[in-house]
Amino acid sequence: MGNKKHVIIGAGTAGLNAIRTLRQIGDDSEITLISGEPPYARMVLPYFLERSITEAHTSTATPQQLDKWGVDRKFGVRAVQLDSARKTIRLDNDEEIPYDTLLIATGSSAARPPLPGADDPSVHTFWTLADALDVNGKMASKGHTVAVGAGFITFTILNALMERSSKVTIVEAEDRILPRMVDETAAEMMANWLTAKGVEIRTGVRLKEVSPQGEGHRLTFEDNATLDADLVLMATGIRTNLEWLADSGLDIQQGILVDERMRTNLPDVYAAGDVAQGANRIGGEREVHAIEPTAMDHGRVAAANMAGQQVAYRGSLLMNIVGVAGLDMASYGSWDNPNAEVITGHAAERNAYRKYLFDGERMIGAIIVGPHADVWSGNELGMIKGLVQTGQPLGAWKEWLRENPFSVKKAFLAQGTVSTLLPRTVLGTPSQSPRG
Ligand SMILES: Cc1cc2nc3c(=O)[nH]c(=O)nc-3n(C[C@H](O)[C@H](O)[C@H](O)COP(=O)(O)OP(=O)(O)OC[C@H]3O[C@@H](n4cnc5c(N)ncnc54)[C@H](O)[C@@H]3O)c2cc1C
Repeated sequence: MGNKKHVIIGAGTAGLNAIRTLRQIGDDSEITLISGEPPYARMVLPYFLERSITEAHTSTATPQQLDKWGVDRKFGVRAVQLDSARKTIRLDNDEEIPYDTLLIATGSSAARPPLPGADDPSVHTFWTLADALDVNGKMASKGHTVAVGAGFITFTILNALMERSSKVTIVEAEDRILPRMVDETAAEMMANWLTAKGVEIRTGVRLKEVSPQGEGHRLTFEDNATLDADLVLMATGIRTNLEWLADSGLDIQQGILVDERMRTNLPDVYAAGDVAQGANRIGGEREVHAIEPTAMDHGRVAAANMAGQQVAYRGSLLMNIVGVAGLDMASYGSWDNPNAEVITGHAAERNAYRKYLFDGERMIGAIIVGPHADVWSGNELGMIKGLVQTGQPLGAWKEWLRENPFSVKKAFLAQGTVSTLLPRTVLGTPSQSPRG
């Protein structure tokens, strides 16, 4: 099956899953993979910094695997122009690559704030393998690490920072930590937990400048307060990698707009992953969900359609999960929907919090906080995700949850959520092992 020339730009999660899927469904068309970086998973970089895995373990496809899939690759080069009329891609080495079908899976990058000194190479970001290697080298001696931005990325590396620094400070312009991931109650629980572990948290402080100071840096804030650091990590947000598509004719908002089959407005051009703005499973609005599960699903659905199948995606579920020093927290779906009916449970003495958001009898979002052992032992995180993902009407079990917010298992099992979830694989068949 397949006599096309597929070109895939980006060897991250979306691009790699697309290639794996094309081969799994028997499409033996030519594949050219163009990528600024070789294949690795950004998601596991925190474990590299923690020293629980080596650099080699971050790789997602060996040269042997890519050979087996018959992938012609061009690594270390960047796509700089898409000409959809001529169906070609121009690279930064001036090479021109023709395509029959194109998948844009160029992901996103760390965004630095436009402040004096913030873009100096000695001030780090933590987004790429190169960043991780750099930070790893700089953290050789224990010192004071300052993370600018109390969002998801800072929290993914906090365990490593706490283990490898003598002191960690988090500074955040907004008045609380994790403002785009959890509500005030959950943020306060995590802030108290971290403060008790010796992490200093400064919220409501606006950075003005970063300047060299001895071997490290001095951060100056708008109120002229200063903070000296041995290592500064900028984790102030991300931007989708779209600049090179400015003249392409693609419909772009926060990302490249895609339909339920991952098609863009240009013929035979698909987009997937962080760079794509596709349907949100809850509500159907098109949004950028810069998370691993979305990149994986997008890549698989795009590939099936590139191979000539007609596969529609039900939309991606927004989810964020972080765990720091034994306290885990997650948010799913419409966790901050102001119009939702809300059920909460808070057991402060055991650091446990649940917030369920409902549209009628359907759970459309949730926030979960609890000690690692509690939330994972009964797989509560997974069960609550299942309830949001399936959108099953909970009937009387909604009132059960109001009375027993920490006993989600009964509602999950009684509603047959597993049997609803099982047939809902992205392509109608379960995904195979990444090794295959
Ligand atoms: C430290 C860290 C921790 C994370 N942890 C989690 C987590 O726990 N859970 C979770 O769900 N998500 C997590 N994420 C987010 C997750 O890694 C991303 O959502 C995922 O990598 C997106 O995959 P992608 O294929 O869309 O893009 P990417 O993985 O970013 O891959 C894009 C690829 O395109 C290449 N590229 C970009 N521009 C060009 C160009 N013009 N020409 C050629 N090549 C180009 C890049 O070099 C790269 O290889 C984390 C991210 C980071 C950085």
